[in-house]
Amino acid sequence: AYVVTENCIKCKFMDCVEVCPVDCFYEGENFLVINPDECIDCGVCEPECPAEAIFPDSEEKAAEWAETNRTYAEQW
Ligand code: SF4
Repeated sequence: AYVVTENCIKCKFMDCVEVCPVDCFYEGENFLVINPDECIDCGVCEPECPAEAIFPDSEEKAAEWAETNRTYAEQW
């Protein structure tokens, strides 16, 4: 799955949300998160993010954010 990382904090762009084919973005406290169980790994959102905050969770930088994404996504 893809995850949202710290660059998203206070970013006001919603380009990623608009392109996601399965609508798996959710609102965290001051950033967006991706529900890893709903993400289909299409990768469409990654280049659309103006803050370069979205990475596949296979990357080390993103792995530490995976739990945070899951936690906030499950609140919805
Ligand atoms: Fe949505 Fe695809 Fe991005 Fe996953 S990789 S969050 S399915 S746009």
